[in-house]
Amino acid sequence: MKRRISFLLLLGLVLSLTACGHRHDVQTHQIFAMDTVMDFAAYGGDTQGFFTAATQEINRLEALLSRTREGSDIAHINAGGTVSVSVETAALLQEALDYAQVTGGSFDMTVAPLVNAWGIHTETPRVLTQADIDALLPLVGSEHVHIDGTTVQLDPDCAIDLGGIAKGYASMRVAQLFEVYQIEGGWVSLGGNVYTYGTKDGKAPWLVSIRDPQSPAGTAAMVGLSHKFAVTSGGYQRYFTAEDGTVYQHIIDPATGAPARSDLLSVTIISDNGTMADAYSTALYVMGAQGAADFWRSHRDAFDMVLITSDGKVLYTPGLETSLTWEEGGSYKASILT
Ligand code: ADP
Ligand code: MG
Repeated sequence: MKRRISFLLLLGLVLSLTACGHRHDVQTHQIFAMDTVMDFAAYGGDTQGFFTAATQEINRLEALLSRTREGSDIAHINAGGTVSVSVETAALLQEALDYAQVTGGSFDMTVAPLVNAWGIHTETPRVLTQADIDALLPLVGSEHVHIDGTTVQLDPDCAIDLGGIAKGYASMRVAQLFEVYQIEGGWVSLGGNVYTYGTKDGKAPWLVSIRDPQSPAGTAAMVGLSHKFAVTSGGYQRYFTAEDGTVYQHIIDPATGAPARSDLLSVTIISDNGTMADAYSTALYVMGAQGAADFWRSHRDAFDMVLITSDGKVLYTPGLETSLTWEEGGSYKASILT
């Protein structure tokens, strides 16, 4: 049980490094974009240049990819007809279609009409009837998306939503800027889409906290990462509670048209590809614990993951064996997937 380093000890280490005026002066920056809080941290090199460029890049991507921004490529596509989009948008849409295929449709950007109708991310969410759902479900599916070069067309009444992938893509773009601004080490967190660059202090990896979904101010586990993306999806961040007390969270199961009723509280995907990690974290939440474990078994070279289940388990893949730590005697029981 060597790897079960006490979480408290780790935290103590982080704090003492800060307290004794460490030589790496980590600068931080925060913005609100893509409907979420985004944090940046960096030391060494041109940190202010990095923050400015990262912010500009995220604003550029939001203007291109947001479903609700007038004039974005996605808004144009959703307005109907044959639309000419940027090379970048066309490539991302193609990538999204690939993820829909590989996940058996658990990730599906064409779920947008149902995302809109449930309105879980809006001020006016509502509980759909089965008849409402049945009317919209035929609009969901990759066969409704027609891409020819940079020309895109959707079938009538269909719509797309890149909410399940855009922040991951943005994290990939921002990751490239660390080198441009000669940053020694740092990280970004775009609303749960994390990238870690270099190390915390020239030696130790960055410690990324995986939140406790049942008490999101707390930590369920920590993972030491360097030059990796870590993306978490869960039902605990965006949801609404209906009058009868039922909780509806924001990830839709494209097979049922309803918010996924997952036995997972959260899924964290760790990988070299931030876009893929974002798509997979959404998809594997839909699949549930068993489906997610099976999916990982057939794609085990592509990513590592941490699943937190509703029956109190932290399940992690062998690639994290030396980097994952959790609180001894905490509320979750951790075990390794094989
Ligand atoms: P977040 O964006 O909060 O980090 P996710 O990456 O899991 O979380 O994306 C969830 C968002 O993606 C939803 O708010 C919605 O806009 C969209 N979405 C919902 N269900 C799906 C799905 N099954 N496949 C693709 N996108 C989805
Ligand atoms: Mg996602």
